[in-house]
Amino acid sequence: MDRRHQERSMPNTTIAFIGLGHMGGPMAANLVRAGYSLLGFDLVPAAARQAGANGVTMAASAAEAAAAADVVITMLPAGEHVLAAYLGDDGLIAAAKPGTLFIESSTIAVDDARAAHELLRAAGHRGVDAPVSGGVVGAEAGTLTIMVGGEADDFVAAEAILHVVGTRVVHCGGPGAGQAAKVCNNMILGVSMIAVSEAFVLGEALGLTNQALFDVAAHASGQCWALTTNCPVPGPVPASPANRAYQPGFAGALMAKDLGLAARAVESTGVVAELGSRAEEIYRRFADGPGAAQDFSAIIEEIRARSAVNSESKGLA
Ligand code: NAD
Repeated sequence: MDRRHQERSMPNTTIAFIGLGHMGGPMAANLVRAGYSLLGFDLVPAAARQAGANGVTMAASAAEAAAAADVVITMLPAGEHVLAAYLGDDGLIAAAKPGTLFIESSTIAVDDARAAHELLRAAGHRGVDAPVSGGVVGAEAGTLTIMVGGEADDFVAAEAILHVVGTRVVHCGGPGAGQAAKVCNNMILGVSMIAVSEAFVLGEALGLTNQALFDVAAHASGQCWALTTNCPVPGPVPASPANRAYQPGFAGALMAKDLGLAARAVESTGVVAELGSRAEEIYRRFADGPGAAQDFSAIIEEIRARSAVNSESKGLA
């Protein structure tokens, strides 16, 4: 983290951290290590216990944590959890001191992020949407990429904290712009992983080795992150989840969720995104089965299995 940010922001900043799961837990631990006072709350006792062991002072409720904080960070499963936590007499908005800075880091719909901003503003608070990319490994290492939406001065106010949990912090624009960037990025990722997987399965059917296709495409115009970092076949990229039986990584269920958010944005804008929409169907089906808990690159196994059935039915096998 930038030393100037650390020195400027650390003293007397108390952060309420709501949602201490796979991502929130390590993010909160990194903030404790950087010297912030952390008050935490999670509905699941095991998550709360782990956060307590990492130096987070656990509160009796989310409202109790927010009432004593200068900054409230939420890292919850989905938009409905965020809006439910914000609202109501015992919600975060009612409990927080006027002018509290809210940093909403869950991945939620652009519309929900904008609604959350409106609620905060109406109550006299400040807020940014700040979804993250980089997975649990990035959360633990403090190397997340963070996409931020909100007013410029609110971005500046949140920046020092965000630089503790991430290395790349990008102000994408006004309210909702962080979620917009996240949803567009993950639509690229979902489509490109399917494209790379289809190409490997086609290569196999044409007698190519996976290594040969990789050696060409990784240095040709097919090059992309899904191929060169998260390669869906074992071998060419030793660190990719394909080499460890597709343990995530980035789980199929999360890809299905993010493509669902993209589909919602496509629908509400009228944009024609045929591949993005098809990718959402493919990953929704994948996540209805064992794929939910596997790395999203395991989609190649489904494509291979369906291709084998198809070629058998055509008498090609
Ligand atoms: P998670 O399910 O592990 O953690 C969410 C936590 O929120 C849980 O511990 C749950 O008990 C808690 N919670 C739910 N409702 C609550 C409430 N009302 N009050 C307090 N706690 C509550 O999920 P995660 O993997 O940490 O993901 C969090 C968010 O980050 C999601 O929106 C996800 O899409 C996004 N994200 C996840 C990853 C990843 O690789 N896991 C990567 C990028 C973004």
